[in-house]
Amino acid sequence: MDNQVMQNFLYKRYLSTPNRLAFHYDGKDYTFSDVYHESYKIAGHLAAKGIKESQFVGVLLKNNLETVYILFALQLLDARTVILNNRLTSKEILWQLRDSKASYLITERAFDKVYTEVKYELSEIQVVLKEAIDQEAYIEPAIVKEIHLDNVCTVMYTSGTTGHPKGVKQSYGNHLWSAVGSSLNLGINDRDAWLCTVPLFHISGFSILMRGLIYGMKVVLIDPFDARTIIEMIHKQNVTIMSSVSTMLRKLLDELGEARLPTTFRGILLGGGPASQALLEDSIAHNIPIYQTYGMTETASQIATLSPEDSLQRVGSAGKPLFPSQLKIINESGHEAEPNASGEILVKGPNVTSGYLGRDHETAEKLNNGWLSTGDIGYLDEDGFLYVLDRRSDLIISGGENIYPAEVEGIVAAHHAVADAGVVGMKDSTWGEVPVAFVVIKKNHDVSHDELESFCNEKLAKYKVPKRFFIVEKIPRNASKKILRRELRKMIQM
Ligand code: ATP
Ligand code: MG
Repeated sequence: MDNQVMQNFLYKRYLSTPNRLAFHYDGKDYTFSDVYHESYKIAGHLAAKGIKESQFVGVLLKNNLETVYILFALQLLDARTVILNNRLTSKEILWQLRDSKASYLITERAFDKVYTEVKYELSEIQVVLKEAIDQEAYIEPAIVKEIHLDNVCTVMYTSGTTGHPKGVKQSYGNHLWSAVGSSLNLGINDRDAWLCTVPLFHISGFSILMRGLIYGMKVVLIDPFDARTIIEMIHKQNVTIMSSVSTMLRKLLDELGEARLPTTFRGILLGGGPASQALLEDSIAHNIPIYQTYGMTETASQIATLSPEDSLQRVGSAGKPLFPSQLKIINESGHEAEPNASGEILVKGPNVTSGYLGRDHETAEKLNNGWLSTGDIGYLDEDGFLYVLDRRSDLIISGGENIYPAEVEGIVAAHHAVADAGVVGMKDSTWGEVPVAFVVIKKNHDVSHDELESFCNEKLAKYKVPKRFFIVEKIPRNASKKILRRELRKMIQM
C-alpha cells in the first residue's frame, strides 16, 4: 500500500480550522474558509478552460492575495505550477515557458508585453488573463482531494546567478518537510503571524504560503516592500516572524532608528545570500533576533537555520541542518572536511528536490545518493555550526590563499559613503588573481581610493584588500537582487 498520500493541503486546512485567520491583506482579514471558497471558485473557471491534474501551468502574476488564490486553485486541481519571476524580461519568461513545456499561462494585464509575445510566438500555450477569469465559463471543479507527496506541486527556476536558470521540481513532500523542519526549529504557537514581503514567485515567499496552510497560521501579505508599512504592520497585526534578505533588513533598521519592535516579535529569518557582520551586529543592537538561514530553490527554502537559543552566540552562522535534513562539507580530495576547513556544501533530506525539469544530465551531475552538491563553499565549526562563505564559482585564489568576495563586499559596503559594492578576481602575473572592487558611492558623498583602501586595511588581511576600486553607477544584479559577478568580470576585460 502506498502511504505517501495526504489530503490536499488547502482542503485539509479548510476542514480542520475554517474559521482561523489565514491572511491579512490590504486592510482586511481572510479566514481559511474564505480562502478555500475563493480558490475553489477560481479552480472551477480554470477547470472549464481545460486545466487539470498533472498539467504544467505557467503563472506570471503580481504579489497579492488574488495570486495566492490562483496558486491555491492550481493546487486544488493538482496541476504543476510553473511559478515565473515577474521581474524577468519577456525573453527570459518565454525561455522558461518553452523549457517547462507549459500548456497554459495565467497572467495579468500588467504583463502586457509577455501576454502579446506568448500569443504570437508560443501559439501552443493557452493564455488565461487574470482579469477575465471570473467571466470565463465555470464548471464544478474536480478537486483532487488526495495528493501524492511525490507529485510535483511547483516548478521554480533558480535565480540564474551562475548561468542559465534551471527549473527545480518541488514536490508536495518537499514543501511539507520544509515547513515541518522550520517549525521544529523555530517552534509554532497559535499567536504566530508571519509577515511576507518577499516575492511569492521565490521559494522564500511561496514557502510562507505553504507554512501558513500547514501550520494553520496567519500570513500578513505586504507588497511592495516599504519599511515604514512593515514596522506599522508588525505592531498592528501582531506579527511574530518575518522573512527578509539583507537589503530589506538594512532599510528596516534605518527606518527604525531609535525605535524598537514589540517584544512579541520573535525574530527575522534572514536568507537568500550572505549577510555582513555589520548588519548582524546592528540588528542585535536593535534587539532583533536574527535567525540566519541557508537554503535554495532546490531545498524548498531552509535547509540549515540558526536556532533561537544560538542567535546571539553564533552571529554569522547559518546554524545547523534542520531536523529532517543533513549537511556535510566535502574537500577537494572528495573527503569530508575537518571542522573549520572549508569545502563544498552538500545537503540531503526530504525537502531536497528530486531534480531539474527535463535535465537528467544536470540532475545526475548534482544529485548523488540523495546528496545535492550546492556549488556553495562553507565550513562547519567544531560544534557543527555552518558558515557559508560564497559560491565556488566566485572564489578568488590569490597567491594560494582563498578569498571570498562576499566577505570583502561586506567590509567595503560598511563604509559610510558606500551604497553598494561588488568584488571579483582580476588576473595578476604575480599572484594569479587579485581582488578588485566595484563601488557605488552614495549620493552627496565622496570618498577617495586611498581612504577605501585604508578602511579595508583596518578590517581585512592584506591579501583580501581590493587592489583597485572602480567607481560605478550601479552593481549589476539579477531579478533576485543578487550580484552578477560574471558581469563584473566582463567589465574588467572591457
Ligand atoms: P543559480 O542556481 O541559477 O545560479 P541561485 O543559486 O542564485 O541561482 P537561488 O536558489 O534563489 O538561486 O539561491 C540559492 C543560493 O543563494 C544558495 O545556493 C547560496 O549561494 C545563496 N545563499 C542562500 N542563503 C545563503 C546564506 N545564508 N549565505 C550565503 N549565501 C546564501
Ligand atoms: Mg543555485
